[in-house]
Amino acid sequence: MFRTINRCVWVNRVENSMENNNIKHILQLSKEEKRKFLDSFDMLMSDCDGVVWNFTGPIAGVDKALQLLRADGKKLAFISNNGMRTMEEYQKKFQSLGIVAQEDDIVHPALTTVHYLKSVNMQDAVYCIATEVFKDYLRNEGLQVMDGPKERFPDTREENQVRVYSEYFDHKDPKVGAVVIDIDVNLSLAHLMKAKCYLERNPNCLFIAGATDHIIPLGSSMDVIGPGYFIEILERATGRTALVLGKPGKALAQVVQKRFHITAPKRVLFVGDMLPQDMGFGSRCGFQKLLMLSGGTSKDALMAHNEPDQLPDYYADSFADFIELYNESIRSEE
Ligand SMILES: [Mg+2]
Repeated sequence: MFRTINRCVWVNRVENSMENNNIKHILQLSKEEKRKFLDSFDMLMSDCDGVVWNFTGPIAGVDKALQLLRADGKKLAFISNNGMRTMEEYQKKFQSLGIVAQEDDIVHPALTTVHYLKSVNMQDAVYCIATEVFKDYLRNEGLQVMDGPKERFPDTREENQVRVYSEYFDHKDPKVGAVVIDIDVNLSLAHLMKAKCYLERNPNCLFIAGATDHIIPLGSSMDVIGPGYFIEILERATGRTALVLGKPGKALAQVVQKRFHITAPKRVLFVGDMLPQDMGFGSRCGFQKLLMLSGGTSKDALMAHNEPDQLPDYYADSFADFIELYNESIRSEE
């Protein structure tokens, strides 16, 4: 449930608050449209935070809705941008909510990064701006992970500032073959400078991004700045473009297409709560898209959003709306 905010969206929200009112709520479809909608997909891929659960607790009805979808023959998969929890923690969380999700059903950003680095036979060190959970996934696969600097930049009045900066940012590190940036609340200018040095000095150094979210809304009283802004700083400072292995990245779209053997994208429904990340990813993959209002996007923000590739085909209040959809659908068949 990671959110992007920008001033343009806010201005448009005020001036044109009903721009997207042609996007239909799934419960406002006619009886025939509801049946057609349910018959239009064989696979449902869903984001997790803000859709299956919230940071503040469970979302009512999700377990029942997912059971109904499975009973109707829909294959389920979950694609999260959140690499702050382990795969085991994901599975425990699903289990605690009464939802069956195997490891193969879950796409985890750190594991996607590990698979990618292994696929290119990365032998050099990987400079990683991310949580320890994320870095441990790389270490556990034998990749050499570098982070830091941990020591503070020297508070000095020395005349030769070039020497001070060079010594701090450019000393005897092993060869770095990839810079990886994901969520890291401890990120600092020093980390970005390190990353910039590695990317500039080795044109073959890979530049990989996980989550691209600009804002991570934890609940009604706390939003956290996500990695999106910092990825943009690095891109602008180096002139390089990150390979995005989180949503809405093209590289992740290729991974997902291959992993789930998708041959008919329009038969996949992508469900999420974020417009740039989830709906943007759905568009990139050619999936149908459903926005849930249970997480990081309000109905007003949806109606005012003006990026066509980030708009859903449908919206719903939460997964619980599928319960009503199936109830109505069964009643209409009787
Ligand atoms: Mg989300």
